[in-house]
Amino acid sequence: MSSSNGFSKLTQSVHAGSHGDPQYKGTTSPVFPSSAYDYEGTSVSLYPRYFNTPNNKFVTEKLAALENAEDGIVFSSGMAAILTSIFAMLKKGDHAIFQNDLYGGTHHAIVKEMPRYGIDHTFVDGADPANFEKAIRKETRVIYIETPSNPTLKITDIGAVAAIAKKHGLISIIDNTFASPVNQNPIDLGIDIVTHSGTKYIGGHSDICCGAALASRELITRIWESAIHFGGSLDAHTCWLVERSLKTMVLRVRQQNQNALALAQYLKSDSRIGKVYYPGLTDHPGHAIAKAQMPGGFGGMLSFEVKNDAARFMGNLKLIHRAISLGGVESTITSPAKTSHVKMSPAERLAIGVTDQLVRLSVGIEEADDLISDIKQALN
Ligand SMILES: *Cc1c(COP(=O)(O)O)cnc(C)c1O
Repeated sequence: MSSSNGFSKLTQSVHAGSHGDPQYKGTTSPVFPSSAYDYEGTSVSLYPRYFNTPNNKFVTEKLAALENAEDGIVFSSGMAAILTSIFAMLKKGDHAIFQNDLYGGTHHAIVKEMPRYGIDHTFVDGADPANFEKAIRKETRVIYIETPSNPTLKITDIGAVAAIAKKHGLISIIDNTFASPVNQNPIDLGIDIVTHSGTKYIGGHSDICCGAALASRELITRIWESAIHFGGSLDAHTCWLVERSLKTMVLRVRQQNQNALALAQYLKSDSRIGKVYYPGLTDHPGHAIAKAQMPGGFGGMLSFEVKNDAARFMGNLKLIHRAISLGGVESTITSPAKTSHVKMSPAERLAIGVTDQLVRLSVGIEEADDLISDIKQALN
């Protein structure tokens, strides 16, 4: 069931890729755990590492429908999805352009792995799309962005970057993890490949590690040809759990969008709080672009500065759990200076707004007033 069937996201989240159980006429898709399938009469045998077993196909269909993509491929982690997609598009001697505000794991992987394969890269400030065009060389093949970014929720103009890539015949790739397929569909804006850490909003319950790439059938075939070598496939049971999670993703993310906006507005009004970063606030520098390219909402991620001791504030929270990762139904909070950005020097951190007072909140689906009360009592 593709997006062209005209159903809304909410309906697709429940029905796309849900095959039911034809044998016993059950409502939900069964789990097919086989790793051994008959090979007669098929050109490509079913095999877990070929990304083609039944539960793998079901969940991929649902995700592709939700991202308005022709096809997709589901991985055992976000990094497997991202790195396999990037490397499948590049070879020795090529050059790729990356936005400088990237998920730490992606940044480290580029810096550590790409030079070892003779692939050159440039980091540019994503705030101005023209920076990507200026960095293009004759060997450039890929432009890669991430928006909203971590942890200060910077916004990159997706349509403008996609247009630059098209004009120069380059492949554009985006990490759409923070927005989720509910809020932002980059393929509609001209992006070639959408990647996700499904560990976050797609799984949504802080209990699954997975990833995905969504694109045209032609590009997914190119990614698949590398993916079967690198491995990184997702087992049947987890595929089934992800399919189950996706059925409530739209509801979860809508509640998270509402909660995050309510929290951001409250935080702006509390004099004990310094800067508040949320693209849904009208004074956020990327607000106008975010409003245009995130029709589903501004997301459940926000960051803010605690004027007093941020570590003590986090220790005082009762409802909001201190934890890395994000996108779960429960609200979690981290100190970027101590986690995602710990490898940077204090001066480097300061330059991108990651102060010791900055905390990053992944807003869950709890009642917004309960979350606000928890923050108030922790500040007192
Ligand atoms: C978590 C995350 C990743 C990496 O995903 P894993 O599932 O941990 O491999 C990539 N990008 C973003 C934005 C993330 O938050």
